[in-house]
Amino acid sequence: MGRLVVVSNRVPAPKPGTPPAGGLAVALAGAMQERGGIWFGWSGRTLPPSAPEPEEPEMVENGGVTYALVDLSERDLQDYYAGFSNRMLWPLLHYRMDLTEFTRVALGGYYRVNKLFARLLAPKIEPDDAIWVHDYHLIPMAAELRASGLKNRLGFFLHIPFPPPDILTVLPNHADLVRGLAAYDVVGFQTPNDVENFETYVRREGVGRRVSAGRFVVHGRSIRVADFPVGIETKSFAATAALAGRHPLVKRMRESMVGRELIIGVDRLDYSKGIAERIQAYETFLTLDESWRGRCTLLQVTPKSRGDVPEYAAMEREVAELAGRVNGAHADLDWTPIRYVNRTIGRNTLAGLYRLARVGLVTPLRDGMNLVAKEYVAAQDPEDPGVLMLSRFAGAAHELDGALITNPYDVDGTAGALARALDMPLDERLDRWKRMYQRIEARDVNWWRKSFLDALEEKDAAVADRP
Ligand code: UDP
Repeated sequence: MGRLVVVSNRVPAPKPGTPPAGGLAVALAGAMQERGGIWFGWSGRTLPPSAPEPEEPEMVENGGVTYALVDLSERDLQDYYAGFSNRMLWPLLHYRMDLTEFTRVALGGYYRVNKLFARLLAPKIEPDDAIWVHDYHLIPMAAELRASGLKNRLGFFLHIPFPPPDILTVLPNHADLVRGLAAYDVVGFQTPNDVENFETYVRREGVGRRVSAGRFVVHGRSIRVADFPVGIETKSFAATAALAGRHPLVKRMRESMVGRELIIGVDRLDYSKGIAERIQAYETFLTLDESWRGRCTLLQVTPKSRGDVPEYAAMEREVAELAGRVNGAHADLDWTPIRYVNRTIGRNTLAGLYRLARVGLVTPLRDGMNLVAKEYVAAQDPEDPGVLMLSRFAGAAHELDGALITNPYDVDGTAGALARALDMPLDERLDRWKRMYQRIEARDVNWWRKSFLDALEEKDAAVADRP
């Protein structure tokens, strides 16, 4: 077994002495500790204005993992990251054609940085290394690496949705992008729906076809294409949640609820998350069902993200105004309907808050997977679990069929489902929760990592044989 080389835009904080955060980072770093390897990507730093392009990545060792870090110029970052990745690919792949902004300059930056990364990475690769590239920032990496003569196994995983062809073809360079995907040996998506969209695209555009379950020929190359739903560290997250009641912040939160039911929403401030629609649904629920006034609170945890993209700043204002208006209209002297928190909460505290909450509201307009949904399930008290309300447009909905599945565009329907969730009897809650927990326990983040790497190294049975 050769080493594992992971390539991603951001590399998880390789600060000496601190373990990498987040289940996914831990799982990938774990694989690299076992078999050796490199984690390659942007350092998070920008080069001084007149500095030349780096000739070598900075190599940093931490916790048994070697990180290879590249500083980028301000211009490269603007074009590749803020521009093409976040203002074109992110909205388009989340089905938001209306928010896309395409420029040739940004597109040029996207290919320029992918070329730079490939040029700096190629000399570090050994012949039997398996290379696993992550997410939409780096789709052209395989083609760029192959151009330098690399014959290694190359896999790509898309963490966000792959939209239907009528949406993807809005991208002026869609043909090049898909040609880039065909340079990999394995292309992994989050859900069967994404795989189906890919299949329809290659068929309609006449660039390939599915030859058997999980195997495609695209641009003349035989590649594996399958869904590998990302999981979480289910057992350890459940254990953290069970102990988190002792955490001072969680204690304070419980005391401040004075017996009221907690409804929780946790989302990065992003237009894909449907936060405004959710607040509207909550307001409709309070208006329709007066008996719940004063008896429940929505805690909406929403750290800011991507402040340099104008749509995010506009959305920040919109959501803050909406939360303020709902509170102004419905609050009482001793009751605030919405607690809107605009900062990042640590994962251990979050685990405790999920467990306190009777309802987890996860209602994105479109989401690749949504790990908050899985974390909410993992964090529940097995004797008295809460109810997950989950948008049908989150990738997680494909797996979590025990959730109350909602359509976030249907504000009245979501309001009705919230009333049903709050009133749900214990036996139904238990029934639904057990089904979901079993699923996320069996398909945790280690299952995800292993099944992708087995496919990449052709160690798995045919994809068709997978359960
Ligand atoms: N998260 C966190 N603190 C916060 C908000 C979110 O640690 O204040 C974490 C959350 O626990 C989850 C991740 O950020 O693990 C968000 O992942 P998800 O797939 O739900 O959404 P994304 O932000 O990747 O679109």
